[in-house]
Amino acid sequence: MIKYYSALIVLGALGLLADYAFSSTGFSSHYLDSGIAGKTVLIVGGIQGDEPGGFNAASLVVTHYKILSGTVRVVPNLNFSSIIKRSRGLYGDLNRKFDVLNPSDPEFNTIKKIKKMILEADVDLVLNLHDGSGFYSKVYEDKNRHPGRWGQSIIVDQEQMPPRAEEKKGSFFQLAGAARKSVDSVNTNLLQPDHKFHVRNTRTAHGDLEMAKSLTYFALKNNKSAFGIEASKSLPTAKRVYYHLLALEAFFDQAGILFERKFSLTEEGISRAIDQGIELALGKNRILLTVENVRNRLSFIPLEKKGKLAFQVNHPLMTLIQTGNVYNLFHGNRRLTRLSPQYFDYDFSLKSIEMIVDGKNRRVTFGTSVPVKQRFLVKKIPDHRVNIIGFSKKTITNESGFVVRKENFIQRFSIDKGGYIFRVEVYGSNKFNGMILVDFRPNQTEDTDIASSFGDKGGQAGFL
Ligand SMILES: [Zn+2]
Repeated sequence: MIKYYSALIVLGALGLLADYAFSSTGFSSHYLDSGIAGKTVLIVGGIQGDEPGGFNAASLVVTHYKILSGTVRVVPNLNFSSIIKRSRGLYGDLNRKFDVLNPSDPEFNTIKKIKKMILEADVDLVLNLHDGSGFYSKVYEDKNRHPGRWGQSIIVDQEQMPPRAEEKKGSFFQLAGAARKSVDSVNTNLLQPDHKFHVRNTRTAHGDLEMAKSLTYFALKNNKSAFGIEASKSLPTAKRVYYHLLALEAFFDQAGILFERKFSLTEEGISRAIDQGIELALGKNRILLTVENVRNRLSFIPLEKKGKLAFQVNHPLMTLIQTGNVYNLFHGNRRLTRLSPQYFDYDFSLKSIEMIVDGKNRRVTFGTSVPVKQRFLVKKIPDHRVNIIGFSKKTITNESGFVVRKENFIQRFSIDKGGYIFRVEVYGSNKFNGMILVDFRPNQTEDTDIASSFGDKGGQAGFL
């Protein structure tokens, strides 16, 4: 079963918000605990909002990895508001706020909360994922490849941890040595030779005032081994994610963390996994939308007239944002679709409908999706009207009792770009009862088990 983020929020009173605001600690945290003793790794993605390689890689660890020994904690979306707005930092650079910070800073609580996670006693290793400019090189080669660039490197603040950290010596005391091992591992899997990774030592304690305010240096000062991983901004997102995951897996190996990855580590496998199985639930679970490959606009979504809109999503980078009379569904820095509502009173007395799907009788609960191979029929419901959106029998207002096949639909009414998934809505005396989806996509499995690794502590990603 797909698990959802716990009751997400709510977008002010309908129609009142011209723009939107985010809560100050809008990030989510995910505890992937194998239950088997081992090291604990904390992964942070999205500290700067314009680095999709890092935040998508961290999210894939949440949605598509199973940790088999040790513990992995992931904050995939530290600067979520900036991610959505494609900004490096709406309130300045979040990675320069780890030294001293005025309590009036709008990100004070974000910093406080992530510092607490870094300082948790069992955290052995902190990995901060970035997309950096160009390609780091020890010598000047050209304007995109020189010692001032950051891309394709693993960053350490100094050669080894401070002596006081010695009691936790373990495998990550020698920072540069551990970075070297991961770099070597990444370099055995390069997509092309000029993507080569390097270790970059910022020698932060020797006067790098900027890096002294960073997350990794805060961790180091508190005896936590920490590394920055930088994929190059010169590469497309899927390639950046590829390198981030190679580096993460190399650190997992060094930490003795065993894992299972539910997709193949290729650009294509990554691109598919990023949107795989993503869903949005609305209308007190009376509406489910499969939003993998969703159309750019969905119209006449029957939302409840009164009250606030609550929604649920099953991916840590997804959220719904109201702008005027439109709801924008985001996946990180991409807007997936725009929902135009039509408002109804809801009637919750009916919970399910009876259908015949490919010859089998089925009772189907509202807010779910039904795989259909050939045909379906919605049985008549006394005093209720069934509206099969895009079903082309023009003169009929109640579409129950008809056998419906994929070719009976007008394609542009599907919710997906592929023309496979359609809405079936039920109304009684002008009140909305619920929606189900009929999904004609071939090769569907009943339960894809994606996102099943969402921990129970999966933080919410909702906003005011
Ligand atoms: Zn960065």
